[in-house]
Amino acid sequence: MRVKSFIGVLALLILTNLFPQDAVCNRMDTLKTEPVQFDPDLATRQYIDQLSADKKERSDAYFEGGYWLMILDMAAEIAIAFVFLSLGLSLWIKKIAFKAKKKNVQNLIYIALYSLFAYLLLFPLTLYEGFFREHAYDLSNLTFGGWFREEMIYLLLQIVLMSPVFMLIYIAIRKTRENWWKWATGIGIIFFAVMLFISPVFIEPLFNKYVPLEEGPIKEEILSLARANGVPVDNVYRFNASKQSTRISANVSGIGSTIRIALNDNLLNQCTLPEIKAVMGHEIGHYVMKHSFKLLIGFGLILFMGFALFNWAMKKAIGRWGARWKISGIDDIGGLPLLMVLFSLFFFLTGPLQNNLSRSFELETDYYGLNAAREPDAFASVTMKLSEYRKISPGRWEEIIFYDHPSGKTRIYNAMRWKAENLPGTPCQGDTSLTHTP
Ligand SMILES: [Zn+2]
Repeated sequence: MRVKSFIGVLALLILTNLFPQDAVCNRMDTLKTEPVQFDPDLATRQYIDQLSADKKERSDAYFEGGYWLMILDMAAEIAIAFVFLSLGLSLWIKKIAFKAKKKNVQNLIYIALYSLFAYLLLFPLTLYEGFFREHAYDLSNLTFGGWFREEMIYLLLQIVLMSPVFMLIYIAIRKTRENWWKWATGIGIIFFAVMLFISPVFIEPLFNKYVPLEEGPIKEEILSLARANGVPVDNVYRFNASKQSTRISANVSGIGSTIRIALNDNLLNQCTLPEIKAVMGHEIGHYVMKHSFKLLIGFGLILFMGFALFNWAMKKAIGRWGARWKISGIDDIGGLPLLMVLFSLFFFLTGPLQNNLSRSFELETDYYGLNAAREPDAFASVTMKLSEYRKISPGRWEEIIFYDHPSGKTRIYNAMRWKAENLPGTPCQGDTSLTHTP
C-alpha cells in the first residue's frame, strides 16, 4: 500500500509539474467525449497526506481516547448508582423530598435533588473531560469561568426540563401500571420533539449570540443555494462559536416561520466561499430530507425497546434487591437511580446502533451536499479541517461502531468519486443518449 501510494504521489507530482494548473483545466474542457483520467483513490490519498504526522497523531489520540472515556463514563454511572442505592444517598434525599405533601411534588423534589447530586458526584470527571482534556488538545477557547458558567446553565436546564418529564413518567407508572413503559416512550418522544423545536429559539441563545449575517456574497450564495433546494428561508444568522472552540459548524433548524440558517464564526473565518457552500449544501440536505424528523422516529423506536427492557429489568432488580435498597416497587421514586443507570447502560450498549442511524443520514446528506453545491474539492478541504478532532482514517469496524459521521477518509473519497463521475467527458455529461426525461 505504502509503495503504491508513494508511486502515485510521485506520478502526480511529475504530472502537475508537466502541466501547469490552468493548462490541465483547459485540456479537461476540450475533452468532452474522452473519459478524463482522474483517480479518486489517488486524490483521496493526496488530501489525507496533507495532515502532518503530528497533527494526525494528535487527532487520533483525542478521538481514540474518547472510546476509553465512554467506558469510564459508564463505570462512573454504575458507581454513582451504587452511592445512591447502597450507601443511602437516595434514602436521604427521599426524606427531604417527602416533607412535601403531594405525591407529584415529592417526586419532583426527589428528581431535582437526584440530578443535582448526580452532577456533583460526576463533576471531577466532567471537569477533566470538558475542560482540562479539551485544553490539553487545544480545542477549547473557554476560560475556567466561562466553562463553569456554561456548566451551570446546563445543570439548571437539566433540572428544569428533565424533572417534569420524569415526574410524568412516574405518573404513568402509577396510573397505567403494566403499560407504563409505552406511555413513557410517548413522553420521551414528545419531549425530544419539543426540544428540537424550541432549542434554536430558547436554548442555543443562552450559550451563543445570534446576529443576522451581513449583506454580501456569502449571504447571497447561501440564500441562492437555499432557494435552489426549496428551503423557504430569507435570513441567515452567524453565531460566535469561537467563544467556545475553533470547531466549524452550521445548521438549518426550525419549523415553518422559525426556519433559520445559522453559520458559526469559525466557519466564516476559517473557510473559503466554496468551502462554506460545500458545508451549507450538506446542512440544507439534512433539512430537505427531514433528517431530524426521521431521527426522532429512529430514536423513538430505540426508546420503545429501551423502556420495555427497563420495565423488565426494574422488576427483576427490585424483586431481588428492593428490600435492601428500601424500594417498594417500580412506582417508588427511590428507584430512580436504578432507572437512570439502566438508561445509561442501554444507551451505552446501543451506541453503535445510534451511530449507524446517524452516520447513514450524514452519508446521505454528504451526497446531497455534493450534488447541491457542486464543490467536491472544497468539501474535501473542509473535511480536512474537521480532522483536527476526528480520527481521519479509522479501521472498517472502528468506523461502524464508533462513528456518528462518516470518517474523513470516507467523506473525501466520496467527494473525489463524485468529482470523477462529474468531470467533463464522463458519459452522463457528454453523451445525451444516456439522459432521460424525469
Ligand atoms: Zn450533518
